[in-house]
Amino acid sequence: MGICRKCKTKDSLISDRIGFCSGCIREDFSSVEEQIRQVHRESRVRFGLPPEPPQSPTMRCQDAALEAGLKNVHLGNVHLLK
Ligand SMILES: [Zn+2]
Repeated sequence: MGICRKCKTKDSLISDRIGFCSGCIREDFSSVEEQIRQVHRESRVRFGLPPEPPQSPTMRCQDAALEAGLKNVHLGNVHLLK
């Protein structure tokens, strides 16, 4: 059972790791955005990925999150994992 750190709602659909309910994320994203991004960065590092997806302005993979750039191939680009 997760508990929202913002509104204190308890619900089985609230991720313990993310820590916010869908209502707070949708209605006041700016107040929870940095905390959610930090969880995302920590998760990427645990899997051996860079904290942020590599960016490159040269070539774009249309399937990748954020259209990850492919000029300099780095671990973390979608479809290019080990
Ligand atoms: Zn909430």
